[in-house]
Amino acid sequence: MHAFFDSMVELITQTATNLPPDVRAAMKRAAQVEVEGTRAAQALAIIADNIDQASSCEGPICQDTGMPTFEVHVPVGANQIVMRRQIREAIAEATRRGKLRSNSVDSITGENSGDNLGPGTPIIHFDQWERDDIEVKLILKGGGCENTNAQYALPAELPHLGRADRTLDGARKCILHAVWQAQGKGCGPGAIGVCIGGDRTSGYLYAKEQLFRLLDDSNPAPRLAALEANVMGTVNSLGVGAMGFGGSTTLIGCKVGALNRLPASFFVSVAYDCWAFRRLGVVLDARDGRITRWLYRDPAVSPIQMVDAQSGGFVKTGREVVLRAPIAEETIRSLHVGDIVLVSGRAYTGRDAVHHHLMSHEPPVDLRGAVLYHCGPAVAKQGESWTVIAAGPTTSIREEPYQGDILRKYGVRAVIGKGGMGAKTLDALKETGAVYLNAIGGAAQFYARCIDRVTGVSLTEFGTPEAMWHLELRDFPAIVTMDAHGNSLHKDVEAVSGAHLAELKTPAFA
Ligand code: SF4
Repeated sequence: MHAFFDSMVELITQTATNLPPDVRAAMKRAAQVEVEGTRAAQALAIIADNIDQASSCEGPICQDTGMPTFEVHVPVGANQIVMRRQIREAIAEATRRGKLRSNSVDSITGENSGDNLGPGTPIIHFDQWERDDIEVKLILKGGGCENTNAQYALPAELPHLGRADRTLDGARKCILHAVWQAQGKGCGPGAIGVCIGGDRTSGYLYAKEQLFRLLDDSNPAPRLAALEANVMGTVNSLGVGAMGFGGSTTLIGCKVGALNRLPASFFVSVAYDCWAFRRLGVVLDARDGRITRWLYRDPAVSPIQMVDAQSGGFVKTGREVVLRAPIAEETIRSLHVGDIVLVSGRAYTGRDAVHHHLMSHEPPVDLRGAVLYHCGPAVAKQGESWTVIAAGPTTSIREEPYQGDILRKYGVRAVIGKGGMGAKTLDALKETGAVYLNAIGGAAQFYARCIDRVTGVSLTEFGTPEAMWHLELRDFPAIVTMDAHGNSLHKDVEAVSGAHLAELKTPAFA
């Protein structure tokens, strides 16, 4: 098994950097149906650029390289202890090489292990089969979309949809609700795996396993195939769209499985994955661990180019508003929801640990007029200086308990993030003259190219993703989705799509 370790490093590298053909094809179709110049079209153009950039430089597609989950099938008698050890070593090596961000955090102390190893990380499931070869499948599913997973115990009363009974139609209502409530927080358009039945644990596990199916396969169970088609058609008429900006494609895939349940329980579990839907697999020779075949991709075939003569990626129109930090209040008050801005100058990253810290400590830098970027970048040290490898936005709603106070206390003028924020932040934006800018979730390579340099770093005790990085931005594009006049695109899209859900009165299944 001398080649097993190298095969695992290659599997991890390809999964983190090279989106599989079925996902590329679905994302390309999503871009083609949006009307040029709309917010959804702009978002999908940035995503298209990002997918191509990631595979051409072998950099992470998204800075959140997710929870590595391996599904391994082995012949009877194969040594699982050795394989588990080598998979763990391969994870640490891929982290060293910058293909994975250090993402494993001690839940009690908050300390980052630095190598993506720790209790529960990575997740490795073994199964035996009566074949001679080994199959390893890997999915990297990030925190933003993981946080939008949902589990329902039927019967249940659901907002906009009413009662969900213990029927296929009840399950359908749960799925629709799960996708609707994800809005832009899970970096849509997304794909969902669903389990009807099981218990609370097996339901989530089986839902995630559905994500290993090809997006364009068809479910062998006719009633589940009909449910998948119905969900796709319905969800894509709600108008949630890419990043929750409104638009035609909210989901690129819906895969449903069913498990038996106890008579007293009826769970519906939904695993939501983002557009950065990273899953690949390999078949290995069991004698030496060499890759004999790839699953989901054929390395001999060139990947689908997301940006080509027909779709040009993100193009500036000249109508963008240029913002240079530090930013004056009157500049911010002149912005409105829907404006596209290009941000240049100094920005500071801040995620959960920084926000919590700033509630009881003075900031390490002057934040007056500043840009605060909800981002946990993947970085590399070269000599004494740092380079950003991947730097897309993280889900902003986690900072809702803190953001309003930080705006009021320190004079931040622009918050960049994804998925939008809530009523407390909207009030503070209006009161203080600040704005929320939505960057495109997952576009980590694209945005890394909008960072000229790292000028410093503070609060390193929180670990790499959680530290406060001082960045010099250049023409960083984002969309105003919450302005200083009390308007929120997120609130509007949620209300309109919720009203569409409420119109779905007729049961689609018995
Ligand atoms: S694309 Fe969005 S949801 Fe997916 S891993 Fe990246 S940040 Fe998280």
